[in-house]
Amino acid sequence: MRGKIVAGNWKMNKNLAETEALLTELSAKLPDTTAEVMVAPTFVNLVAAKHSLESSTIEVIAQNMHFAESGAYTGEISADMLLNIGVDTVIIGHSERRAYFGETDEILEKKVKAALAKNMRVMFCFGEELADRKSENHFNVVESQIKNALFSLDASAWSKIVLAYEPVWAIGTGETASAEQAQEMHAFIRKTITDGFDAAIANKVSILYGGSVKPGNASEIFSKPDVDGGLIGGAALVADDFAAIIKAI
Ligand code: PEP
Repeated sequence: MRGKIVAGNWKMNKNLAETEALLTELSAKLPDTTAEVMVAPTFVNLVAAKHSLESSTIEVIAQNMHFAESGAYTGEISADMLLNIGVDTVIIGHSERRAYFGETDEILEKKVKAALAKNMRVMFCFGEELADRKSENHFNVVESQIKNALFSLDASAWSKIVLAYEPVWAIGTGETASAEQAQEMHAFIRKTITDGFDAAIANKVSILYGGSVKPGNASEIFSKPDVDGGLIGGAALVADDFAAIIKAI
């Protein structure tokens, strides 16, 4: 059985006091669930988030990391720095990192390998742009994003990988892929992993959907057999909404 996961990507939102307040509220409202629940606040608030969630099952994860061990990389954060504060899961490849910070497949492959070398868990994000879908090139784009960053991994690495399919046209736009579109792509992703590795690995990897998941559409999206949870942006910043999405899983 693969695990269900609901993760909140807070992006560049919430200062220290707001982080503590949101986590206190979320902890109080957290529904009973067997799914893993994760939140990714900004780097500067990770330590505070860990403290706030000391007696909670909610995990604190990072939004990004650099591939180098240490050194002259002004403004960057290493895997060891995250591990040192008890953060052992990192989001890599978010479309905003690709679009605004020039993160190519090649860079992302390095980041994935650097995180895995430290035994961290990686939530690897990918997804097509609107033009790709309109030109019916979305399967090719997704396949190449996965192949370029993940196909050079050892088979054993897959126990540490979670995938997040996030069509760029659905992120922060209020437009969601239909549950059928999500299922169709998730099944394709699983087949891609089967072809590159094997069915056992493909059937074990959790594949999350991300892109304007809200309390009103979460149940339908999560009901699909190849959708193992969600990566949530905007709705993760509101405790009631995030709690409702967790309930939906
Ligand atoms: C995201 O950025 O990962 C995301 C899914 O955002 P939103 O839910 O706001 O579309």
